[in-house]
Amino acid sequence: MKGPGMAGRRVVVVGGGFGGFHAAREFMKAVPREANVELILINPTDYFLYVPLLPEVAAGILDPRAITISLPRTLPGVRLLLGQVTEIDPTGQSLTYADPEGHSGTLAFDQLILAAGSVHKLLPVPGVADHGHGFRGLPEALYLRDHITRQLELAAATDAPAERSARCTFVVVGAGYTGTEVAAHGQLLADLLARRHPELADQPVRWILLEATDRVLPGLDRRLSRTADRVLRERGVEVCTETSIRESTQNGVRLDDGRFVPTRSLVWCVGVRPDPLVAATGLDTVDDRLAVDDFLAVPSHPWIFACGDAAAVPRHRSGGLAPMTAQHAVRQGKVAGRNVAAALGFGRAARYRHRERGFVVDLGGRKAAANPLHLPLSGLPAKAVTRGYHLLAMPTNRLRVAVDWLLDTVMRRQQVQLGLVRSGAVPLDTASPEVPDLGVAYTGPESAGRAQPATPDTHQANAQERKARHGSE
Ligand SMILES: Cc1cc2nc3c(=O)[nH]c(=O)nc-3n(C[C@H](O)[C@H](O)[C@H](O)COP(=O)(O)OP(=O)(O)OC[C@H]3O[C@@H](n4cnc5c(N)ncnc54)[C@H](O)[C@@H]3O)c2cc1C
Repeated sequence: MKGPGMAGRRVVVVGGGFGGFHAAREFMKAVPREANVELILINPTDYFLYVPLLPEVAAGILDPRAITISLPRTLPGVRLLLGQVTEIDPTGQSLTYADPEGHSGTLAFDQLILAAGSVHKLLPVPGVADHGHGFRGLPEALYLRDHITRQLELAAATDAPAERSARCTFVVVGAGYTGTEVAAHGQLLADLLARRHPELADQPVRWILLEATDRVLPGLDRRLSRTADRVLRERGVEVCTETSIRESTQNGVRLDDGRFVPTRSLVWCVGVRPDPLVAATGLDTVDDRLAVDDFLAVPSHPWIFACGDAAAVPRHRSGGLAPMTAQHAVRQGKVAGRNVAAALGFGRAARYRHRERGFVVDLGGRKAAANPLHLPLSGLPAKAVTRGYHLLAMPTNRLRVAVDWLLDTVMRRQQVQLGLVRSGAVPLDTASPEVPDLGVAYTGPESAGRAQPATPDTHQANAQERKARHGSE
């Protein structure tokens, strides 16, 4: 790819989520327009996904586009490169990427911010990868929305009691904030749909939330756990702590206490692990996240920065690593953007320091659990804080989201299954939960240009390109 011209600099941000988006925005604020610096953001989609509202897309409350923030619109001056980085050469300062049509390219950089986020954490449980679905990206949320609708429609259509019961049973594994919100919203949606089918009048619709530890929302304030636990149980969600699954089959799941639960629905929310791109860099990691210092730079390669779920950022007060949350990713992104600008001579570098300000968990209906500034709230006050927090945290689309929320309170939810995302398009073991896996091998004449690992030749070509852009440095 052509550079910004002689003596120009190129900064590449990999990933346009919470960390990458805010890094790019902060960098553009810090660097004057007339400076000869190019910022390229590589992301597989042209939007930044506001992930915390994903459960509301699956529940049919929010239109999927409402939680997508257009990157070209919100990051003027940033060059968006649609694609996925397949390899990074930290020493040669180049990367390889594949675009959405399968063509590959290489790109030299002066500074890099790695903000590729995370993917599903898989455990070696037989059958889970074949029968379970994760919940990390928009395709999975749309799949789940359709799947719930379809299961209830098929349940209503069958006269076989065992099949009907299995189709009306939904199992969620993992009661972190993702699993808890998915179960809370899913149960309300399934109840609403079941009421539309007189055939299901006497059929219980079961939601089972399994958690391996002793409480829902492990890792969060215990008061939030208690609120979420109470709300879920009052609604009829079967919360099973200290329980997990031993096996998943086409007809159901075997729990580790020996029980077999007939079901056609397994939602896998046991957590996330850093994007595999981190390991592929060959750089030092901590807990599989890229090891960085207080300035979010990689000590051995200080032209590489990282933020968000992909980065092992030290916590300055309590020790350990900053958790994988949006709250941290946003603030780390801002620091990374600022520090890369400083490395190019614009402004001063800063250390990453952040004290958590609480957490919000939406439990559907009028319920939520929140602890703003560590003040525990439940019921309507928590709901108001939760929704207010999300509206403030979203860079755009606030009105669209607010209107969808309003419509959901005054109108009947519009719920049909479009069937556009099928089961095979959202495999659990995907490295890219943000894009559907269409399973179509690219066979066009350009297939010769598909992504290939970087070779010594490409490293040499990139070195030459950098040299051409920077003169004789
Ligand atoms: C359902 C759900 C609800 C959540 N709710 C909350 C919440 O309420 N509060 C909270 O604090 N946190 C929440 N989180 C966690 C939060 O979403 C993450 O911690 C946050 O998204 C991390 O930001 P990030 O920038 O590291 O990664 P992301 O926001 O995931 O962004 C990573 C980006 O990198 C892109 N990418 C990946 N690989 C490549 C590649 N090879 N090349 C180019 N681009 C790539 C991805 O497409 C994506 O756009 C939730 C997570 C989930 C799944």
